[in-house]
Amino acid sequence: MKTAVISDLHSNREALEAVFADIHRRGIRDLVCLGDVVGYGPDPEFCVDLVRGHARWCLMGNHDDALFRDASDFNPHARGAIEYTRRRLQPRWWSSAEKRSRWTWLRGLPLRVEEGRFLFVHGSPRDPVREYVLSTDGILNPDKLRSVFSSFENIAVGGHTHQPGVHDEDFRFHAPSGMAEFSFDLAPEGKYFINVGSTGQPRDGDARACYAILEETRVTWVRVEYDYRSTMDKILATGTLSEVLARRLAVGK
Ligand code: ZN
Repeated sequence: MKTAVISDLHSNREALEAVFADIHRRGIRDLVCLGDVVGYGPDPEFCVDLVRGHARWCLMGNHDDALFRDASDFNPHARGAIEYTRRRLQPRWWSSAEKRSRWTWLRGLPLRVEEGRFLFVHGSPRDPVREYVLSTDGILNPDKLRSVFSSFENIAVGGHTHQPGVHDEDFRFHAPSGMAEFSFDLAPEGKYFINVGSTGQPRDGDARACYAILEETRVTWVRVEYDYRSTMDKILATGTLSEVLARRLAVGK
């Protein structure tokens, strides 16, 4: 059975539509989401509704969570986007049932899901919403990665860094690096930390939207072209969202 795993959509409608079309074209019916449905981008309602309607479950990301607390630990561009998103999504007493249910859904997202040999989180198993497990941790921070690896059994699957790839037990990081499709075999008894990458704001130097297809013994990352210029124009047209958030979509950084 194949499961499409999306993460870090960040209110990017064009990227999400392109990824959904690709998943549909492949005949994959099972879809899950690792969080950060909102933040950074211009289309939070659309992205929430599409994920709510189609994902079997969706986890809480740090940007989803920030809607319900103080976002002072975010950088100014990210914080501005949280305030923009909150203004659009937070219901008032006169708001429609649709708006209320969207908000209630976001507030109730789970922090982790376990299925068979896979443990799904947004960030890391020991701090599911916030901790970054970076692609460079095996080289620059092996003690941290050792500690992260000791906090789960089998295979952890996350997002959050927007950098697709997988850490193996020797802490080597295997990344799709510019390939339109890249598969990695998962040994039956192996231990791994998989990062599915970001659909709505890739940061590995590849501007194409990213998602992963998970099977029992294999993970495949897929890159999908989308019209990021439309998303950039929409970000600039808000007059509120930082132009930095638009520019980075063109370079995937
Ligand atoms: Zn994110």
